[in-house]
Amino acid sequence: MKDFFHTNLAEFQEELIENGFEKYRAKQVFDSVYAKRIFNPAEFKSVPNRLKEWLAENWRFAAAELEGGKTDTDETKKYLFRLSDGRHVESVLIRAPDDDGKVRKTLCLSTQVGCACGCKFCASARRGFVRNLSAAEIVSQALPFAAGSGSPDRAFEFENIVVMGMGEPLMNFDNLMAALKVFNAPEMFGFGARRITVSTCGIADKIEHLAEIDFPYRLAISLHGATDEVREKIMPIDAKYPLGRLIDAAKIFAKKCGRMITLEFIMIDGVNDSFEQARKLAEIALQLHAHVNLIPYNTVGGLPWKRSGKARRAAFADILRTRGVSFTLRKEKGAGIEAACGQLALREDARQEETAHKHSREND
Ligand code: SAH
Repeated sequence: MKDFFHTNLAEFQEELIENGFEKYRAKQVFDSVYAKRIFNPAEFKSVPNRLKEWLAENWRFAAAELEGGKTDTDETKKYLFRLSDGRHVESVLIRAPDDDGKVRKTLCLSTQVGCACGCKFCASARRGFVRNLSAAEIVSQALPFAAGSGSPDRAFEFENIVVMGMGEPLMNFDNLMAALKVFNAPEMFGFGARRITVSTCGIADKIEHLAEIDFPYRLAISLHGATDEVREKIMPIDAKYPLGRLIDAAKIFAKKCGRMITLEFIMIDGVNDSFEQARKLAEIALQLHAHVNLIPYNTVGGLPWKRSGKARRAAFADILRTRGVSFTLRKEKGAGIEAACGQLALREDARQEETAHKHSREND
């Protein structure tokens, strides 16, 4: 089976010709998938049956199968997907105010099963790195949210995409870029680049590389510490790319791309929420002309970290405000369904591994 989301129009036309179909059929198939958002060849419009059968036999349209969903009270929705090797990833749909204050639906995508970066506070890091997701697996997480026929062309149920689920996107670089192209290319989903944000824990050389290539998307950096002393305690990546190096890379990116970077800062009680950290964070943000997102930490079972108190978060934000930093003070979202970072998929994989282990014991 070939993954449809790994092919472009020119390649697909060749495939059709090689298999005895007319070239113009490629456009009809692209139109069914990308404009009408139909992902089952049997339902494609204006396509002859012989082609529908050939497509069903040879091409895979959804590389991640929706397995379950959970809805939280604050309208955060979390979906669990099963991949062809039985692993799980999840995507999360969040309703949250944008920078302009308007509430928008945002889809959060995963790029890896597990993660190699080892951030101490993060649930995904705990299982270590398992594997990269293919571009088709990344794209397929969005398919259940593609609005069906009858809605305007190219509509999705969400208005923004953030690549902030499980995994480090810049460590799965080629597949990430290929997946974003499928969302963004005009002949594909045509989803605006400015509505797509890629979040990284700070792979400085990859950020420099982004400045060199055509990268029309937004970039967010998970800072979480405003000095190396604090950051290295919670993010092992800081040893490889210390803050000075990371900030230099971010400067190059911001200058080249002319877009505002977002600095994410999850507030963990007694770890990174001192006023000294707030002052240092303000300095970095002003240097980079970056927007700061202050995010309450979501507790992860088995980890000792706690969320900073409300009063502390407000006082921390005040320091940014008095220094003229552009920032958003986020409310907790989806804590009830473990929307933070790989926790649902993690549990599902652990449950299956446990079951498999039990079976193997029973078979002993
Ligand atoms: N690897 C990328 C993207 C995935 S994590 C990155 O580091 O940016 C998405 C965001 O969620 C990151 O800012 C990450 O630090 C944050 N995060 C991880 N665990 C969290 C938790 N328990 N509560 C709140 N945010 C968390």
